[in-house]
Amino acid sequence: MPDKVQARPDRTLAVKRFLFSGFYRAGSCRWVERAAARLMAPDHAALAAALGELLVGTPRRVLALTAHPDDLEFFCGGTLRRMALAGSRITAVVLSDGEKRGNWRELAGQRQAEQWHAARLQGYESVTFLGLPDFGLPEDPRLERAIARVWDHAAPEVVFAFDPKELVPQMANRDHKALGRAVMDLARARVSGGAQVYFYGTRSPDVLVDIAPVIADKLRAVKAHQSQMVYLDEAETDGAIRLMGRIMAGGSGLAYAEGLFRLM
Ligand SMILES: [Zn+2]
Repeated sequence: MPDKVQARPDRTLAVKRFLFSGFYRAGSCRWVERAAARLMAPDHAALAAALGELLVGTPRRVLALTAHPDDLEFFCGGTLRRMALAGSRITAVVLSDGEKRGNWRELAGQRQAEQWHAARLQGYESVTFLGLPDFGLPEDPRLERAIARVWDHAAPEVVFAFDPKELVPQMANRDHKALGRAVMDLARARVSGGAQVYFYGTRSPDVLVDIAPVIADKLRAVKAHQSQMVYLDEAETDGAIRLMGRIMAGGSGLAYAEGLFRLM
């Protein structure tokens, strides 16, 4: 672990801790968990779960796009793990190094190393960092061009990206939205190209992936991002991730799930 520069407060991590522990505490009340699960449940949960099995069970070339180190593992780590285990070849592309709001020297290097560690645990084939500014992804055609280049290079059959509508719109992250919007615009131009596009971090899931078989792998991969876990209690982190999995499972009968919105 790099030396600490000084013990200055890190707002991003402090906000993350606040959200995690608030979510975990609220969710430990059973009726809150049930209400959240009802809110997130797809209209046709059994169909959504069947579509999820089809997605993860078929080996494919996958392009997994994200804004910051740790997003992929947190929002769709179980899905990607199941796809890797089934023989899919996963190219992860991380737009920024998550460098801006850190508390250490050489934070970008640390976060890249953590992402590599998570990628090895997950079985991704490669990880590419685009080095765009953290919390400052360009909201103009430059972002679309950068994504188009990696899309063309990876020639994916399946693309993953953030849902620009976000899971909780009131707490939207500008980089997550920027990525989702750029992928939406690109997808429109590539609708005849044959690639399927799925949004993670969605509040409108229509595909549910059963992550119960890999929940321990997901916990491990999220916690590989050690520098982002520093203010979080490990039991709370595990508890919040499991709770999220139970909520996303909605009325499907699955124990833990990740929800996706299929754009095309
Ligand atoms: Zn993020």
